[in-house]
Amino acid sequence: MNSARGSDPDSIFAAATALIAAAQSLRALGLGVGAAGNLSRRIARNGRAGFLITPSGTGYAALTPEDIPWLDMSGRHEGRRPPSSEWQMHRDIYASRPEAGAVLHAHSPFAVSLACLRRDIPPFHYMIARFGGDSVRVADYALFGTPELARSALAALAGRSACLLANHGMLLYADTLAEAMNQGEELEALCAHYCRALQVGAPVLLAPEEMATARERFKTYQREAHVSTKKTRHGSMKPARLKTTAAAKQEETRQQADACPN
Ligand SMILES: [Zn+2]
Repeated sequence: MNSARGSDPDSIFAAATALIAAAQSLRALGLGVGAAGNLSRRIARNGRAGFLITPSGTGYAALTPEDIPWLDMSGRHEGRRPPSSEWQMHRDIYASRPEAGAVLHAHSPFAVSLACLRRDIPPFHYMIARFGGDSVRVADYALFGTPELARSALAALAGRSACLLANHGMLLYADTLAEAMNQGEELEALCAHYCRALQVGAPVLLAPEEMATARERFKTYQREAHVSTKKTRHGSMKPARLKTTAAAKQEETRQQADACPN
């Protein structure tokens, strides 16, 4: 569960500010293309369950916290701007996955490439286990911004925290906004690695028991990371994971773009 679920105006303002900062970093992280994609985080307002989400039809550069709409779980929004057209996809994840604290949807290049091939990402790398299963599935195609897309995405997310959307992009959720951004970078990198491996041949896939072991290891790792993060907040330890610099990420993505067959 996301711990930041305050309902007072200061909490909403701080959460909206953090959401804008994350949205503005999407491009530098190789996850943003134009104004495509959207980002949300769960937060209650005046005692009502709901979430903040990036607004519809606008770039992120000049956003202010007042531009970030808040939606309740029925889809009614408050704020001066309408929500992203994909709000139903976000709402349905929050409604069905109580552990979801943030949702990221991106049109990142390698995720889109595989989504257009409608090719599930198989267990070619142990990091696939980070998303909960032995593969990252591709959801059946449905038009953007529709309840049908939200339904097909949820079906593809069964037992998983990430999926691809056919002929569209990636979708994932995590317990916090920072973790959703981290996992977005990781999923895009896995898509790039899979594209590269396919250029050379057929990747050797890990066996179900090997993936099961990897998933168990991730559970332990995540528990340790949470403990480490708590200690870091009190100044006694360094962060469990150091962030790749935006410049290095951009260069890596550029090099990968040169190599992808799609
Ligand atoms: Zn989209």
